[in-house]
Amino acid sequence: MKFVTSLGAGTALWLFAALNVASAQDLNVLCGVDEDWCLTMETAFEAKTGLEVAMERKSTGEILDRIRGERADPVIDVWWGGTGDTHLQGAAEGLMEPYQPAHSEDALPWAQNFFQMSGGKASGVYAGALGFAYNADILEDMDVPTPSCWKDLTDPQYRGLVQMANPKSSGTAFTVLATLIQLLGEDEAFAYLSALARNIPSFTTSGAAPVKAAARGETGIGISFIHDAVTQKLAGAPLVIVAPCEGTGYEIGAVSIVSGARNLDNARRFVDFAMSPDGQATGAASGQNQIPSNARAALPPAAPDISLIRMVDYDFATFGSPEQRRRLLDRFDKEVLQGASAVETQ
Ligand code: PLP
Repeated sequence: MKFVTSLGAGTALWLFAALNVASAQDLNVLCGVDEDWCLTMETAFEAKTGLEVAMERKSTGEILDRIRGERADPVIDVWWGGTGDTHLQGAAEGLMEPYQPAHSEDALPWAQNFFQMSGGKASGVYAGALGFAYNADILEDMDVPTPSCWKDLTDPQYRGLVQMANPKSSGTAFTVLATLIQLLGEDEAFAYLSALARNIPSFTTSGAAPVKAAARGETGIGISFIHDAVTQKLAGAPLVIVAPCEGTGYEIGAVSIVSGARNLDNARRFVDFAMSPDGQATGAASGQNQIPSNARAALPPAAPDISLIRMVDYDFATFGSPEQRRRLLDRFDKEVLQGASAVETQ
């Protein structure tokens, strides 16, 4: 009290405000899902707990790079959302903290398997299949055929009309790369991607950007997760959504706690919420269409029925390995990006 009096009223007020801001930093989260979902989740968790969350949206590969960069002195406590094989890569690099969240008994079998595979360091929150969507108005105006298979997308008639993200930054695009390898074999997949790159004017940073661009009529065809395309279509975009005829891959979106997190208790509370029916309901509440991992969580009404889609038996063990990630991204850079002299844009 004496200390405050001797500083004077104005300084005391300033000091009080400064202390308040410092103590408001209860949890730092990097969010890998759509911006709208990040915001809805942040608001719901803050309302439930009274904690203050600093949440930032980034693409999956960018999050992995950021957490790697902070290994010696982590600022980020939780990585929520984004494709599971990249969480597995982080776990295998020793970047994630083991935690068995509340509600794990209600996790669907694919989420239970994923948790085991991560060594108890990442929990599956949602699932969704990969595909593409085309803008029917654009393709009709350009008088080009409509695609239904991966192989159609390399047709020179689509020169400049296809968008896909860069797998270094985007978990969606890394899933494309891993899916094509599982469908075609590695050498054929890279030959396919080199041919596809001739139709792609630029690789985006974010995985949902291609389908959002197709929705706005800025490109003809966007390769993304099908649930992202559903969200755009429900908003009124003239999109036709395609589950490719050869079959496709899928993601298990995940949540992990960063090893050495400063706000460990709050991080655990966040992960518990992310795995709860209420936490998972924030997806549908923000217009998302992934399949929740908690059997008690409501399925968004427009979520694609993945049992109707021809799906590869996705090899999370192989594609969740840091060595494979490094090797495949290096090969993508040399053979696809440099080969096509493609320009990366946001
Ligand atoms: N947005 C949605 C809706 C997703 O399901 C995912 C994957 O988990 C992402 C974004 C991932 O974004 P990015 O490909 O930019 O890493």
